[in-house]
Amino acid sequence: MAISQPDRTAALRTAAAHAETFLAGLDDRPVASRADAAAVRDVLGGPVPEHGQDPTAVIDALANGAEPGLVASAGPRHFGFVIGGALPAALAADWLVSAWDQCAAFHSLSPAAAAIEEITAGWMLELLRLPPDASVGFVTGAQAANTTGLAAARHRVLARAGWDVGRNGLGGAPRVHVLCGDQAHATIYTALRLLGLGEDAAVRVAVDDQGRMRPDALAEAMGRTTGPVIVCAQAGNVSTGAFDDLGAIADICATRDAWLHVDGAFGLWAAASPETRHLTAAAERADSWAVDAHKWLNVPYDAAMAIVADAAAHQAATGLAGPYLVADPGQRDNTNFVPESSRRARAVPVYAALRALGRSGVADLVQRNCAQARRMARLLTELPGAEVLNDVVLNQVLVRLPGGDEANRKAVAAIQADGTCWLGGTTWNGEYVLRISFSNWATDDEDVDRSAAAIISAIGAA
Ligand SMILES: *Cc1c(COP(=O)(O)O)cnc(C)c1O
Repeated sequence: MAISQPDRTAALRTAAAHAETFLAGLDDRPVASRADAAAVRDVLGGPVPEHGQDPTAVIDALANGAEPGLVASAGPRHFGFVIGGALPAALAADWLVSAWDQCAAFHSLSPAAAAIEEITAGWMLELLRLPPDASVGFVTGAQAANTTGLAAARHRVLARAGWDVGRNGLGGAPRVHVLCGDQAHATIYTALRLLGLGEDAAVRVAVDDQGRMRPDALAEAMGRTTGPVIVCAQAGNVSTGAFDDLGAIADICATRDAWLHVDGAFGLWAAASPETRHLTAAAERADSWAVDAHKWLNVPYDAAMAIVADAAAHQAATGLAGPYLVADPGQRDNTNFVPESSRRARAVPVYAALRALGRSGVADLVQRNCAQARRMARLLTELPGAEVLNDVVLNQVLVRLPGGDEANRKAVAAIQADGTCWLGGTTWNGEYVLRISFSNWATDDEDVDRSAAAIISAIGAA
């Protein structure tokens, strides 16, 4: 069946119309979804369609069926997790990526994708103040970035011990010790499972009251190990926004030739603003870094960077071997920096975001969100008995309401049901508390005020 040109663009225009309606309504719709997955399945499910359908009709049915199950996380008042938003330029660039349908694995398949990755990698390293010759892979998220960084780490620390893990695997290899802050993100442990290093082998190093790894505890833990060591530090704790003392940690790593990996999924962006840059001091001394673009840079899902100072270790971990390799010597084959082969041109929306914001715009985005976190913390302390548990150094606010876990859980449910904003709960020092995160370009101070009022009234009614 020949598809004529008008048919292709008709479906695109239909999608654009649905997208416009959705985006125009983002500010007003309840932030939580109206329907659960079962309700969406009822509308969109059923047996495999026997016959095909017109593309425009498919898009209409899809958009209408999904609508009640959508969360307004791209909107200005979703304060759950650390979720980001989608800058207009990044979103539009993301559409282009799909229209171009490049296989961005190899230079030969898309010189444009190779060039844009190179440019974006350079810009990223400059903005985040990381070594300019570090090696950058554009991955799906910080999970993949942590896995890539730790895979490079595994290669290098074992190579120093005389073991080629790429060739020989881990059977018979010297034991690799992994030292993580007790508040390391869950994705670190997934990476350790995937890499065969073992979740339980990780030593959980004590943290302080903000969730920062204690350097003295790290030094002590390091002293109790022999052989290859990897240290996982954090730039931006998901609950408090706190940063590990990377300088002190790098000093300790240097005493043992330990690999230092920094999970900076959202926090590394602090380096892009003069107001928060001090938090990331000494980050450039690490060996690898994970940073998301879909969180604080406000690129649509999914996009992140795996950055490795030791380019050879990066290649050893994720470089593609075999007959496909080296089609164009001297050119960038994007696949060699990520755990995927065929892939979309993931750097393109990142490029668009950086170009739309510029250096000053990235700094402004970070500063505005941090100021909004402080504003929210101030407004919520008006609640009798409410306590802000963290030093609000970045974009995260932790609030404990009086009445124990039960009262805090009820409050979170009431706030979510009210729909003005969305926030979640987390466990902090064994207690269930409210976590509020700012990372969206579209959030303004009025959103903060309106949300604080809704939170206070929902808690009053709960
Ligand atoms: C979100 C987050 C991750 C995981 O990132 P994904 O993009 O969801 O894969 C890892 N570490 C930290 C600190 C995070 O905030």
